[in-house]
Amino acid sequence: MSASDLIITRRTAPAKVTVGLSDLGILRRVLGLAMRYRWGMAIAFVTTVIAAIFQLLIPQYLGEAVDSARGLLAGGDAEAARAALWSTAFLLLGASVLRGLFTMWHNYQGEAIGQRIAYDLRLAYYAQLQRLSFDFHDRTHSGELITRGMLDIEGIRMVINAGFLRLVLIALLVGFGATLLLSQDLWLGLIALSFVPFAAWRSVVARLRLRAGWLALQEKLGILTRVMEENLQGIRVVRAFAAQPYELRKFDVVSDETLALADQRIDIRVRNTTAMSYAFFLAMGLLLWVGGRKVLAGEISVGTLAEFLAFMAILQMPIRQLGMMVNAFARASMSGGRLFEVLDREPVIQDAPGALELKVTDAALRFENVSFTYAGARARGGASPTLATLHDISFEVRAGRTLGIVGPPGSGKSTIAHLIPRYYDVDGGRITIDGQDVRDVTLGSLRRAVSLVQQDTFLFTASIENNVAYGNPWAERDRIAHSSEMARLHDYIAGLPKDYETLVGERGVSLSGGQRQRLSIARSILVDAPILIFDDSTAAVDAATEQGIREALRSQSTRRATIIIAHRLGSLMDADEIIFLEGGRIVERGSHQELLALGGRYASLYALQSLGNEPAADAPAGEAGR
Ligand code: ATP
Repeated sequence: MSASDLIITRRTAPAKVTVGLSDLGILRRVLGLAMRYRWGMAIAFVTTVIAAIFQLLIPQYLGEAVDSARGLLAGGDAEAARAALWSTAFLLLGASVLRGLFTMWHNYQGEAIGQRIAYDLRLAYYAQLQRLSFDFHDRTHSGELITRGMLDIEGIRMVINAGFLRLVLIALLVGFGATLLLSQDLWLGLIALSFVPFAAWRSVVARLRLRAGWLALQEKLGILTRVMEENLQGIRVVRAFAAQPYELRKFDVVSDETLALADQRIDIRVRNTTAMSYAFFLAMGLLLWVGGRKVLAGEISVGTLAEFLAFMAILQMPIRQLGMMVNAFARASMSGGRLFEVLDREPVIQDAPGALELKVTDAALRFENVSFTYAGARARGGASPTLATLHDISFEVRAGRTLGIVGPPGSGKSTIAHLIPRYYDVDGGRITIDGQDVRDVTLGSLRRAVSLVQQDTFLFTASIENNVAYGNPWAERDRIAHSSEMARLHDYIAGLPKDYETLVGERGVSLSGGQRQRLSIARSILVDAPILIFDDSTAAVDAATEQGIREALRSQSTRRATIIIAHRLGSLMDADEIIFLEGGRIVERGSHQELLALGGRYASLYALQSLGNEPAADAPAGEAGR
């Protein structure tokens, strides 16, 4: 994808279409956010107007000061001229000081409101990300969501000062300034203002080009970051395949493209700044030439000419900043579109109106003819039943009993686990817990009743204690230690220099795969939920340690229903019922003995795995035995 493709992708982000807001609608909405701080905005507006008034007074006082000074030099009433010069000088000084103060105040006010809006949006955005269902997260890249949460909020923050307030300032300065100049002397006024349209045009064009370049540059920097991140995270794979030269080349190519884009931006900036300066000094030269002749002809005073020159100097800055203002509006409308698209989205999975708390008595979990298709698959293949991930799944498991689920990769085992806490909703049939449809109870109570030990372990950058206690932050150290003991991890933790206080590195890199899985199991045990699901969560644990965990759990199993999903039959052969899934359908079911007697797929798998000879996965013999 070329840089221009990237720009187009960004510019045509579907967000605006989805939320149905035009650019103006988005800006109005941003202004609405700012109006939450009504008083702050009122102060910002008033201080902007006052700053503009003082700025407009300065050239007039300057003109008067020049004329007074000339009067002094020319002889005449020296006392009166000196007094006039002093009073004008004081007025000039006062106007300059007050202008500075009010400019500072309006900038402060604008920035402060921008920061408050950013704060509000950040909290709302983060809360919304917690609410949105997996269906949304499956389809949206997390890097994209992080960008929206950082850069897009920044884009909205900046528009208050650099957009709305600057618009007021520029409109006042150019509007009143032009009127004053033109009313004093039409021709001189036109000459003084002649640079304005050109400079405004160049400023806007340059800013928009710089903006496009900036977006492309961000994309390239994003790619650079990703290449570096992947290289660092996958450093073992890179070294194992001796792929350093390839990785270096990959990085070089993107670095070169990034540098080219940065050069392009410098080029645009330098060319346009130079063109605007030429236009300004050309107009100033013309003004001096025509104005000088008028002074010589006695048509205007030197002070009036000085006033025109001072006006030009004052107008120069805001005109040059016009581009920044247009840029701020363009960025805010694009960022707002992307951000509001997330904020306005209603989560697919949420509490039904009037949902009640789940009441668990027997922890009787029932799947009744459940079928399900992922949204991604639905989008690809319409309603075709062949694409369904699960077809007509029925089973029951209750407190004191264990259900085993086995089947080839991709057969739908994890999907069954994900439907129970309503990560997704079923398309057909229903799931009940003690007779209550999971869609009719509150999500909070449902998720508290189901503890899922995921296939992929995720550890937070925090102490081992905090990681284990993630689902129950108030748990006492004894309980944390007990859960870790059940997960056969306590002895290992106790042997660490800071035992439970030991910090787990970034995503648990300092722990082995099996240790991470056991920490994850301890975390789920601590929650003490009535339904406990292991989703292939002991794959990296050796058989002996796994046996120990199962026995520890068995002592508590009378009060909880357990589901074990595994590829290794040794993990689930003790289950009361085992279902064999294939292509999202239950193709065999029964106890271990019944399934062996059936002589079907389960029996073949059992024979293939030649149980009893399995090697230990989580190596150290000493640790496994503990
Ligand atoms: P494994 O044993 O490899 O863990 P599994 O039996 O647990 O596999 P699932 O993870 O349930 O299989 O996946 C079942 C099917 O659904 C697969 O074809 C998979 O590609 C697809 N699938 C899984 N998650 C999603 C998702 N979030 N969006 C779309 N399709 C998905």
